[in-house]
Amino acid sequence: MKTVDIIVPCYNEQEMLMAFFEETEKCVNSIEGYSFNYIFVNDGSKDNTLSLLRTLANRCERVKYISFSRNFGKEAAMYAGLSNSSGDYTIVMDADLQHPPALIPDMIAGINEGYDCVAAYRTTRTNEKPVRSFLSRCFYNFNNRITNVSMPQGAVDFRIMSKQMVRAIVNMPESQRFSKGLFSWIGFEIKWIPYENVERAMGETKWTMKSLFRYAIDGITSFSVAPLRMLSLLGAFISFIAFVYAIFILFKTLIFGIDAPGYASIIIIVLFLGGIIELSLGIIGEYLSRIFVESKGRPIYIERESNIVNDTISKEANKISTDALDVLRRKGE
Ligand code: UDP
Ligand code: MG
Repeated sequence: MKTVDIIVPCYNEQEMLMAFFEETEKCVNSIEGYSFNYIFVNDGSKDNTLSLLRTLANRCERVKYISFSRNFGKEAAMYAGLSNSSGDYTIVMDADLQHPPALIPDMIAGINEGYDCVAAYRTTRTNEKPVRSFLSRCFYNFNNRITNVSMPQGAVDFRIMSKQMVRAIVNMPESQRFSKGLFSWIGFEIKWIPYENVERAMGETKWTMKSLFRYAIDGITSFSVAPLRMLSLLGAFISFIAFVYAIFILFKTLIFGIDAPGYASIIIIVLFLGGIIELSLGIIGEYLSRIFVESKGRPIYIERESNIVNDTISKEANKISTDALDVLRRKGE
């Protein structure tokens, strides 16, 4: 019997939680050869999510939960779940039934075919605001072009992964996590399965245009230094043009003498260069702020309550790094 942990990040999901659990149980109970456990991660919900989780855990011993001290974001919640997962396979899915549990049997079938990972992607984006769909398409196209990770259009965080993959993800210690990219960066054999977009039945999406924009910037800066390289190229190009123009002005002045009027050209050049410098500083600042945050090495999440007691991958990982430190210390002596 293989074990599968289902990780579910939850933020203010009191309306959906019970329906999610019942629906998922229906889908997984009939799968032979696998037993399913749940790791719910309460990401600082302000509603009754936590007390519902306690009730579920009392009712069913396969339900584990971790509750954060505040809202740390879905990425942190997924990381907490993955680092506490000890199953042979791990599924990550949303609590709002937008990731249909009916796909789980297909995912298990993919695993039985020998894949390390089976991941879902949306084929439709019904009822999504057209602006959001358009920006999202632009993001995927741009990101796939400039980074070395590729994500299919419509890829969502609904997937099953082998223990090895989970270990690889957990061993990436970065605190600004962009899981879609991390999942792709680690490689392994992935099977993609399509599904039709499902609307959220109750509750509401936590994404705003602003948070999506930040998420896109995170995605690009986590996996690519192409914007910095583009700046260097732009700088080189502008320097070349400036050099050619300087020679032109020099000869013009030598031949025709000083020509005082020139306000328009000067102001255009000053404004243009000013704009480019501001943009460059902004882009450098984005990378710098990421170094700043990473350099502090703060934990990705802080746990306030949990019913998990067993040994976990993160503990193993921690042990490995402390062992390595011990070796280094001994070498230093
Ligand atoms: N979520 C979370 N922390 C957050 C925001 C969201 O754990 O700060 C969870 C949420 O409870 C849900 C999943 O992440 O299970 C996806 O969130 P949402 O439905 O808001 O995103 P969408 O489906 O609109 O992309
Ligand atoms: Mg949702």
